[in-house]
Amino acid sequence: MGADARPSGERAAGGRGAARPWTSSRARCPALPLLPFLVVFLAAPSVRAAGYETCPTVKPNMLNVHLVAHTHDDVGWLKTVDQYFYGIHNNVQHAGVQYILDSVICSLLADPARRFVYVEMAFFSRWWHQQTKATQDVVRDLVRQGRLEFANGGWVMNDEASTHYGAIIDQMTLGLRFLEDTFGNDGRPRVAWHIDPFGHSREQASLFAQMGFDGFFFGRLDYQDKLVRKAKLEMEQVWRGSASLKPPAADLFTGVLPNMYNPPDNLCWDVLCADKPIVDDRRSPEYNAENLVAYFLKLAKDQSQFYRTNHTVMTMGSDFQYENADMWFKNLDKLIQLVNAQQANGSRVNVLYSTPACYLWELNKAKLTWSVKQDDFFPYADGPHMFWTGYFTSRPALKRYERLSYNFLQVCNQLEALAGPAANRGPYGAGDSAPLNEAMAVLQHHDAVSGTSKQHVADDYARQLAAGWTPCEVLLSNALARLSGSKEMFTFCHNLNTSLCPLSQTAKSFQVIVYNPLARKVNRMVRLPVSKHVFLVKDPSGAVVPSDVVTMPSSNVQELLFSASVPALGFSIYSVSQVPGWRSRPRPPESRFQKSLSWIKSSFHVRSLLVKPSSHDLTIQNEYISARFDPDTGLLMEMKNLEQDLLLPVRQAFYWYNASTGNQLSSQASGAYIFRPNQQKPLFVSQWAQTRVVKTALVQEVHQNFSAWCSQVVRLYPGQRHLELEWTVGPIPVGDNWGKEVISRFDTSLETKGLFFTDSNGREILERRRDYRPTWQLNQTEPVAGNYYPVNSRIYITDGNMQLTVLTDRSQGGSSLSDGSMELMVHRRLLRDDNRGVGEPLLESENTGLWVRGRHLVLLDKARTAAVGHRLQAEKELLAPQLVLASGGGGTPYHLAVSPRKQFSGLRRELPPNVHLLTLARWGPEMLLLRLEHQFALGEDMVGNLSSPVTLDLRDLFSAFTITDLKETTLAANQLRAKASRLQWTPNTGPTLEPSPSRLDPAGITLQPMEIRTFLASVRWEEES
Ligand SMILES: [Zn+2]
Repeated sequence: MGADARPSGERAAGGRGAARPWTSSRARCPALPLLPFLVVFLAAPSVRAAGYETCPTVKPNMLNVHLVAHTHDDVGWLKTVDQYFYGIHNNVQHAGVQYILDSVICSLLADPARRFVYVEMAFFSRWWHQQTKATQDVVRDLVRQGRLEFANGGWVMNDEASTHYGAIIDQMTLGLRFLEDTFGNDGRPRVAWHIDPFGHSREQASLFAQMGFDGFFFGRLDYQDKLVRKAKLEMEQVWRGSASLKPPAADLFTGVLPNMYNPPDNLCWDVLCADKPIVDDRRSPEYNAENLVAYFLKLAKDQSQFYRTNHTVMTMGSDFQYENADMWFKNLDKLIQLVNAQQANGSRVNVLYSTPACYLWELNKAKLTWSVKQDDFFPYADGPHMFWTGYFTSRPALKRYERLSYNFLQVCNQLEALAGPAANRGPYGAGDSAPLNEAMAVLQHHDAVSGTSKQHVADDYARQLAAGWTPCEVLLSNALARLSGSKEMFTFCHNLNTSLCPLSQTAKSFQVIVYNPLARKVNRMVRLPVSKHVFLVKDPSGAVVPSDVVTMPSSNVQELLFSASVPALGFSIYSVSQVPGWRSRPRPPESRFQKSLSWIKSSFHVRSLLVKPSSHDLTIQNEYISARFDPDTGLLMEMKNLEQDLLLPVRQAFYWYNASTGNQLSSQASGAYIFRPNQQKPLFVSQWAQTRVVKTALVQEVHQNFSAWCSQVVRLYPGQRHLELEWTVGPIPVGDNWGKEVISRFDTSLETKGLFFTDSNGREILERRRDYRPTWQLNQTEPVAGNYYPVNSRIYITDGNMQLTVLTDRSQGGSSLSDGSMELMVHRRLLRDDNRGVGEPLLESENTGLWVRGRHLVLLDKARTAAVGHRLQAEKELLAPQLVLASGGGGTPYHLAVSPRKQFSGLRRELPPNVHLLTLARWGPEMLLLRLEHQFALGEDMVGNLSSPVTLDLRDLFSAFTITDLKETTLAANQLRAKASRLQWTPNTGPTLEPSPSRLDPAGITLQPMEIRTFLASVRWEEES
């Protein structure tokens, strides 16, 4: 999004959204030289760290101003990715990335002193593949000489609030791999560069450090925080990204850029800007060089006051700038020449073309001791009533689709790795994981999963995901046929969340293939919509398993339930068939029905009761959990953990905040980015719910209906240690002209002392304190929105004894606004734009609105053991089993010689519970990418040993292939770990030393708490016997 999308829109340039005729012509590029002709300017004095050899010479006794020429190219925002790349719809926003890169390359060739930074590989790789070999050769030279530098290098510049760490790692891996394959070590970014994301997570810093970045620069932070940092000279410091990993493993030198990512006022020389070019001809009536030089000298000195070294940086560029790069470079050339000429008159300012890496290199050489930050940069506010906490929830359906696609992509990657080449070429056609991998990477962009793009762009993001699913489904079919030995008519049901699946609803018999992407066995309740019949379900061994058919009270649709047991990294195939002559009825006489069907081991009673308030004591219960509902209101009122003998009064209800449209304090409205409620107290959706109860042997449910647009099913399956709340909200009515932000709130008696806890990108946990920031004295100006934090996977409250945890199925905003209380924003629909550039209210389809369904899993535990529950359950949620159906006719053998198998595990032994198989994916023809993760934090499991280091033997671990060679890499797999080294920084907490890597022993791979280890494994697949 736009750096200058300020409320007042003060920037004079006619760029943003201005529809005007386009008259500029691009500078003509000189003929591209065929041979690398320039080694001329390469400075080679002094010893330079790897990657910094090409940095420009500075003047040690002067103030050095590093000009960073850059463009910020959103991978979708006001226009789609393709519209931005090609420069389509310039009346919406003038932006065409292909022309930017054409123009920049020409300008770089015109003068060897010029430098430029490029960031977004989604665009660059597309442009690259369209160039001639001659151009590619020239660009390779520019990269080798440091004149074109890549910063960050991910496929996109990802959002940090609504992203999951697995997807962040995947998208960075994709972008950095392109750079590594194309430019080798010369193209490897040394600096992470998140100049636009709206707040910064601690986990992001940790991941960047583990990827081997030497430093990190960003643009946006809370305006109060920024003032304090300037005063304390803490605009640059060491950020400690992990409370578990031993420093400096997750330490990252981090700098706040002085002017977000914009050029200084009056010095924007893009075709999108209106500032005056430098006129240095004294005879011209427009002569302005002397004034501009004086202005620049003052600016540089003023800015440098807030930084600790004699180096300072200026970002010379902004959104989609440099389409006519000559304009920028011509003026920067003059600025450098004119300002440096003043050194002859005693000026102590030296200005130069530089890059983020070369600026960082000078900071490192200063050998200072830096302060240490241990929390994060959420929430972000750019004014007293302008908290960017709405986008934590914006577009909840897209956020869920993204998370579901993460799940599916991992399944696709795993099956591609397990089945080998047979996954890509098989009876179902060409299977491919790459399109979904790329689509998922695009979705991580800071205007994509964040929900801050225009509606048509959000639609295009969803289109890209859907297009990515299709070749993965072909891949799954090929792989499942290969691994099961049977070619079936596979079917994928995409609408199970709305109880739609044509095959299961019509077929007399069908098969259910349940694939489990976890490295441990799981039991999962399978639910499928079926016709009004009675069904027999058999497990892989042919034994009948208990099943139920439940009629959904709201829709009258029947769903078949049975519990599937699936081995680690493998599948089980269940067969389902109608029992001839039997038709199920919604409310059969219970006793007769059960008796006559006793030969089916299924306990078959279907009860659906409409419960009026005051008529029943409503309780649902299994062997671990009981939940009691208020008979007067139908609301959840109490939860028990029977195993741990805990009882907690918990009242849960839905409320909505009335979205501000601006008031006398500020004109700020609630919108796609900003959350600003009119009042602190939310309004009830309804103070009571109409309830219906479904109780069978396989499920107990209370169906709560709060209003025409808000309902919920509270559910317990046997063996489940959490309470499942499946909410359905929408379309949010706005006919009363009130925008609404809907929350689910849990109120308890826990004494929480202002504290609550949220995860960081689904990984480590951060403590949050109401109306408080750890590093400065907060002036709280928005008591609700200013206490909202991103919740990617979990939020919890505790009194030190008991802990109530809520797991989410997508990213949401959450908070605890009074002790014992915890809330999550599930949906929002708004009537005003919030003036941050997107230019649309967040209506999510103007006429109809959108209904959204999601799940909250609630866990009540002793605080000391709570992590065991929420860590393992969150992993099961993220990587849920994938259901694939096949019609029941029976397939044909994949190989005539091999008899089909109904169960398969890709592992010879399960991994211990504290180890998560984060990545298993194809990397090359005979190469796999493997990531193993310790999923517990230091000290988190206070009773058992799940927070202890764990050692694995990778030899013979996998059944589908043999590992013939193993190499360890940094987190994004673009450097061998043994050869990787990072710049060292001295924190004020004491020096830290990177440990020298120990010899890699596949028989003893040790993981420390929260450690991720990444490997490239050469493999040989088992022969098809
Ligand atoms: Zn942006």
